[in-house]
Amino acid sequence: MSNITNNGKPDNLVEVENLKKWFPVQKSFLDRLLTGHLDYIRAVDGVTFAIRRGEVFGLAGESGSGKTTTGRLAIRLIDPTAGTVRFDGVDLATLSREELRKMRRRMQVIFQDPMASLNPRMSLGEGIMHGLKIHFPEKSNLHREMTMEIMEKVGLSPARFFYNKFPHQISGGQRQRVVIARALITSPDLVMADEPIAMADVSVRALLLDLMIQLKQEFNLTYLFITHDLATAKYICDRIGIMYLGQLVEIGELREVYTYSLHPYTQALLAAVPVPNPHKRRTQAMPEGEIPNPINPPSGCRFHPRCPIARDDCSKIEPNLRELRPDHWVACHYAEEFLK
Ligand code: SF4
Repeated sequence: MSNITNNGKPDNLVEVENLKKWFPVQKSFLDRLLTGHLDYIRAVDGVTFAIRRGEVFGLAGESGSGKTTTGRLAIRLIDPTAGTVRFDGVDLATLSREELRKMRRRMQVIFQDPMASLNPRMSLGEGIMHGLKIHFPEKSNLHREMTMEIMEKVGLSPARFFYNKFPHQISGGQRQRVVIARALITSPDLVMADEPIAMADVSVRALLLDLMIQLKQEFNLTYLFITHDLATAKYICDRIGIMYLGQLVEIGELREVYTYSLHPYTQALLAAVPVPNPHKRRTQAMPEGEIPNPINPPSGCRFHPRCPIARDDCSKIEPNLRELRPDHWVACHYAEEFLK
């Protein structure tokens, strides 16, 4: 659960304000001449949230919602088009390249596809140790020992058995443990986990989540957990933000949002989560249609073409996030109708 400082306010590790990332669309010279302007994919379009120290903050939404780009912006893997990111009170845009490199030790990533993120020519030990060479070169005599220790912690045990193996010689679940070890070896404060179990076999997913929870306690970590799967988010997240077409539409404590969801999109996502009981049916299907084109998003509320309760003004006026229950924010003109 999130920590609270002595003055009673949440202790934020990350603060993201009005973040935007627009990617220019590649066009031919002739197209540019004819249209007279560049088009942009508005992957992230005005997102504001905070991650409290010690919590698991989830970003969820369908593919194309902008959650991964938002995560990458939040740890400055990519530069924003606009907006600010503060990490532990420091505006990351004010840091020099060298200062940012040092700060990176404190912000690590677990990517979705461990095979793609591991160097196939590096042994597991060398791959995990890499971060130590970058951030703690002065401790070179301890690198091997520290690497063996973290391998044991993530369940690559006995470490001496795995140390000289290569990524293709181990299972998918073990590869994800290598990626977790590589992220944790620099003693980070924040770990962004981008769909960390999506590529793992179903039989080991719960084990990996349990491992992440256990390591979070042991290493005092904060997670930014990105997922398309609300059932997974329910297992691990303390708070959650629901994204749609580059914007946050609902944000709050996980239990609060799941119990009293106030946005029609969140309600549809929750209703589409498979129910483990074969005698129970889903109450609602996902709204028809795909996420619209982020180059030219719908006017007003971006969800209006798919929203089952849209009214005339929904296509004209853009809703802002409003706090309708304690620490529970929603961007919908008619969310009051769902208040219980
Ligand atoms: Fe639906 Fe209108 Fe609310 Fe958007 S603002 S979610 S279209 S009711």
